[in-house]
Amino acid sequence: MKQFDRFRPYIESASRIVFDSIKLRGLTYNTLNYLYRYFLTQLPPFTEEEFHCAPGCGYCCHLRVSVSVAEALIILDYLREHDQRHQYEERVNTLRESLAQRAVSANSWWLENSVPCLFLEQKTALCTIYEVRPFTCRAYHSLNRQRCETGFFDRAETAIPCYPDFKRSRELYSVAFELALAELGLQSAQFELSSTIGLFLQTPDLVHHWAQGERVLPSILSDSGPA
Ligand code: SF4
Repeated sequence: MKQFDRFRPYIESASRIVFDSIKLRGLTYNTLNYLYRYFLTQLPPFTEEEFHCAPGCGYCCHLRVSVSVAEALIILDYLREHDQRHQYEERVNTLRESLAQRAVSANSWWLENSVPCLFLEQKTALCTIYEVRPFTCRAYHSLNRQRCETGFFDRAETAIPCYPDFKRSRELYSVAFELALAELGLQSAQFELSSTIGLFLQTPDLVHHWAQGERVLPSILSDSGPA
């Protein structure tokens, strides 16, 4: 995670907050939601006049998204709260093979196959979990929408102009969750979003086993940092 070197003090501070809160309040959905909401108040603002990102665009929702387990659990809780679990269980079942592929594939596979995120509403190109989307999604931005379109339609890696430090300053909260969970002795890494949620939906007991410190997520799912 060399790209995060200059953010190390911020990551350590946020990670300490996660670790202490879980020790004090317990590893519960409430604790994780509380931390997520708190970190949202710490994010540097999105400069809408300068960024070319807009609702219904959705090109970047066809790229690989990395999450900490904490963020995945916050999304699961959101689906339960909004009575959407069943809907996504069905969607996951129709994607069974593609889910396994998503877990192990690099960004190039997503681009070549134009694979949408599990949570992208196809008709509107809107995110269905917008309130609780991962920090990776909250960090991604473009200074040139045309480049996003070109990469999407050409199905090829395209350099998207952005502010790398701005991106890292938002992604770092995912890394903070990742490090704190590891310090608590839990299996922790940056996992691919759709396949991780898919696994948890298909096997609800997995969350309980993970919270007991078991290594329930295949290590092939992990990578070394947010995509
Ligand atoms: S979680 Fe939402 S914002 Fe993030 S890639 Fe999926 S649809 Fe897009």
